[in-house]
Amino acid sequence: MNKIKILDESISNIIAAGEVVENPASMIKELIENSLDANASLIKINVTNRGQNVKIIDNGDGMSKIDLFLSIERHATSKIITKEDIYNLRSYGFRGEALASIASVSKMSIASKDKESETGHQIYVNAGKIVKDKEIVKNQGTEIEIKNLFFNTPARLKFLRTKNTEYSKIKHVVLTQALANYNVSFQLSLDNKIVLKTSGKGFENCITELFSFNILKNLKKFKYGYYGTMDILRSTKDYIFTYINKRYVKSKIIETAIIDAYYTKLMKGKYPFAIIYFDIDPKEIDVNVHPSKKIIKFSNDNTIYNDIKSELEKTLWENESDSMPSLNIQEENTDSSFKDIAPTKYFSDEKISTTPTQMFDNFELNKKNYQKNKKNETFYEIKEENNNFVENNNIIDTPKNFNDFSQKKVVNENIMEYKIDRVKNIKILGQLNNMYILVERNDTLEIYDQHIVHERILYEELKNEYYNKKISKQNLLTPINIEVSEIEKEKVMQNLDIFNDFGFEIEDFGENEIIIRTVPTFNFRESVKETFFNIIKEMMSKKETDIRENIIISMSCKNAIKAGEKLEIEEISILLNKLYIYGKFTCPHGRPIILKIPFLELDKKFGRK
Ligand code: ADP
Ligand code: MG
Repeated sequence: MNKIKILDESISNIIAAGEVVENPASMIKELIENSLDANASLIKINVTNRGQNVKIIDNGDGMSKIDLFLSIERHATSKIITKEDIYNLRSYGFRGEALASIASVSKMSIASKDKESETGHQIYVNAGKIVKDKEIVKNQGTEIEIKNLFFNTPARLKFLRTKNTEYSKIKHVVLTQALANYNVSFQLSLDNKIVLKTSGKGFENCITELFSFNILKNLKKFKYGYYGTMDILRSTKDYIFTYINKRYVKSKIIETAIIDAYYTKLMKGKYPFAIIYFDIDPKEIDVNVHPSKKIIKFSNDNTIYNDIKSELEKTLWENESDSMPSLNIQEENTDSSFKDIAPTKYFSDEKISTTPTQMFDNFELNKKNYQKNKKNETFYEIKEENNNFVENNNIIDTPKNFNDFSQKKVVNENIMEYKIDRVKNIKILGQLNNMYILVERNDTLEIYDQHIVHERILYEELKNEYYNKKISKQNLLTPINIEVSEIEKEKVMQNLDIFNDFGFEIEDFGENEIIIRTVPTFNFRESVKETFFNIIKEMMSKKETDIRENIIISMSCKNAIKAGEKLEIEEISILLNKLYIYGKFTCPHGRPIILKIPFLELDKKFGRK
């Protein structure tokens, strides 16, 4: 007996609905996209009943009576006509499935009027069947009302989550759409309360309306969108908004490129705020891989990763002061979720802080000088005799413990000038608890973490030496044996060349062992073994990052001055000078180096002001 039957259309629509209309949020996404495709400049959405009831009104092109009837048919679309259109897609929709799918699992009415028609028209649809239609009086645009979503698919209804969960997904959908379409005014109400509203008056207003003025203030432009300064780091990746041709997507490639560009600036568990608008020839991507078009496949992942990462790195480096958090870092708190999007919540910038830009006014100029000189001079060191530029008159002979600093004494005059300039108005007050360096500068008390300062310097020096091929090696009298696991060994053996460039000559030494024959000429404060273990650890835990980065980070972290070490004033001055030459103010893991307390703040605390 024959068993195969062609499915009844109402059944196949319900099956398709499972893909397109996963939940109220994905339904709303489809509806918004339709309004945007119809060139609406105003979109209002009201959601009640846990998302089962939704009303969406737009002022777009609208539909004629015939189109209105066709709109709920499966594969009915006004957006593609030929096969080529699929690969040249500039509209959000094209499958002609959304309305048919939604209609099949709800009770729906659509009212619409286009420019050419005298009157509007309205249809009532029950589980995909038109049950009534009538002529109506209406402005141009479309109004769709969905009631009782999933009323005829109890299994699906069971998958609806709590009201809060469904509502927050809906908010996320509307927010991401509003962010990409900042010239369109959006309004979202949940249970008749407005929770999100944008004016449609451009990017800056949109950011302030969706997040806060503080976020806007801390966003900087770069080639592919906007990136946040260190003052608005988040603790999830959710604030990296990625749009490809205005379509919100979760793109692992782009996300990783952004995070990697910030790499050494980010503290563990912290992520940047970023909005990426990446435009690409539609032929280069396949949005068709996912029915709700959430996932996008690029034809060339690597180029996109490299392009975005290097563009962002370039800009971050040019605006180095952005990457220095100001004293009053406001820990992300209120705006850490989409739960409450009232802009006023974030206006808490009243606290006084010396902004990074204030502090680095002169620095930018000097940095240019420095970079110019960088080309001719691969390395600079401070001669001890130059320590007298510090306003403190304690001149001590040769700094102890600082053989790594005093080994090289290439001094470029311009650089010296620059250094003197940098430090002339600072006064080193001393060391606190053998951990922190206290400095007075203008009207501010600055507190530096000595370990991080040195770590950052070593990091920059090593990087510099490595990329300029300046690392020399020294033979070990007794080679060092290191026990490793099988995978660790494999990883090390795969990267022998890189280790060699860093001065580590390594050989296989039987089953679970390797042997180190040479090490770089480097002031190891920690044993070579300890340092190497750390390199392996870093290498194994951060699979995605460059192994060279792992080596540099481990070497600088392990071998930097530790908290608890006593420092002489001269040592401090050398440290600070170097730090200012490099001009990077976070540790390679992103912890801040400096805290600044304006005297004004102290005056206030003591009730003087
Ligand atoms: P698609 O968007 O893939 O074309 P849909 O099922 O979402 O498929 O919509 C079917 C058609 O209905 C669209 O191609 C469009 O012509 C029309 N349509 C849907 N929503 C609107 C709207 N808000 N305003 C104007 N036309 C609309
Ligand atoms: Mg559509």
